[in-house]
Amino acid sequence: MTSRHPVWALTLPLLACAWVSAQSPELGGVRISLEPATARAQLRVTRAAPFELRVQVESREAAQALALRVELPKTGRETWPANDVEVRDATGKALLVERSGIEWEKLLIQLPADVNACVVQAVEPAGGWPRAISAKERSLEDAASGLSLRLAPWPKGRKAALSLRFDDSHPSHLDKVIPLLREYGFKGTFMVNPGPKEPGSRQTYTFETRQAEWAAAATDMELANHSAHHRGARDDEDMEREIGGAAEAIWKLTPGRSRLLALNLGGGTRWRTTRTLRHYLEQYHQFDASSGSLGMDDVYGGRVEAFRKAIEGHLERGLWCRTHFHAIGDGLNSSEANFRAALDLARQHQDQLWITGMSEIHQYQTALASARLNLQKSEDGRLTFKLEVGTDPALYAQPLTLEVTAPAGTSRPVLVREGGVEIAPEVGSDGSIRFVLPPRGALYQLRTSP
Ligand SMILES: [Zn+2]
Repeated sequence: MTSRHPVWALTLPLLACAWVSAQSPELGGVRISLEPATARAQLRVTRAAPFELRVQVESREAAQALALRVELPKTGRETWPANDVEVRDATGKALLVERSGIEWEKLLIQLPADVNACVVQAVEPAGGWPRAISAKERSLEDAASGLSLRLAPWPKGRKAALSLRFDDSHPSHLDKVIPLLREYGFKGTFMVNPGPKEPGSRQTYTFETRQAEWAAAATDMELANHSAHHRGARDDEDMEREIGGAAEAIWKLTPGRSRLLALNLGGGTRWRTTRTLRHYLEQYHQFDASSGSLGMDDVYGGRVEAFRKAIEGHLERGLWCRTHFHAIGDGLNSSEANFRAALDLARQHQDQLWITGMSEIHQYQTALASARLNLQKSEDGRLTFKLEVGTDPALYAQPLTLEVTAPAGTSRPVLVREGGVEIAPEVGSDGSIRFVLPPRGALYQLRTSP
């Protein structure tokens, strides 16, 4: 990674009640403090690299229980890749870090009695940091044939995407939400807690008691990972069980489909692990779907209007509009009337919106961001190009959409994949031509005639 930041060291003899960052913009917006606030120890913090902080606790009283609270910036130029962050002591041993399920950028690090130094750092994922491919590389303009083509930002000529997410496998999802979504023809994303029921827990798990109904729901709705029990995890093994166990339960109901699932660890939960969240995401083919969503519980007020504004704003910018609900029904988190009003708004915009499951939207976006079009040859109305896709088609299985514009006065273009397979075009109501392509590398030839 490029190091555009200077390396700073600062020593702040402080009573730990104050956040260190208030006095230290050198830390790039990171806030650090000691707990308890009455601790008389001192903190020395060095920023050794953009995403590496070295922390030294000095003058710690013997046997004093201390914890380090670290808050990494989650917006702006100095944003840390919070899902890739781990903490190690001076010997290199990974320390147990506690976080809230939906705020992975806030770390609480218990410092064992013999640990007075640690490194808070982002570690590069196995596949490397994501590389940005410019939108230009996803389009081709060929002067010789007059053809221009581009990989579309969204399928079916849509201008933006909308996901409707439902959390906590609430009974109303089976009783009311899924039948309503079917009536509207929308695919929802259901963040389920598959359980099974744990000894001593009073919670009931619809996934366990109404298995056949969830299995039926999985045929046309999308299931997503909300952890097995919505209670957080005590340690690494518990993390594996909570995330991996829930993923396995969902995969069982969706054989033959991509195993890539949206993961949201749930508000109000505490998770303790020595590992990065990335470790679990990669291990179980999950992606982090915990942020940037419009909460639709009535308690926030004016939800139908907020939903309308969110759709319009995302349509304007061509982005993915994420929304989430809890229980639906009178006296529950969202009234049925408000839920129906939101569905009606979505329906009003459905020829511009791709309304589908979160994993499908994420698959499309990620495969697209990794894709390129390379011109190979152009002659006599025949343009040969190569589609390159960087993602694994088994996980990122959503087909990509290619939009083609042919010069006026030429025939409708014909697209043939290497090996001679002709791809049927999708013709938009405005006469636009699109082709739906498998999300994997291949050579294609586009033909037109006068
Ligand atoms: Zn939840």
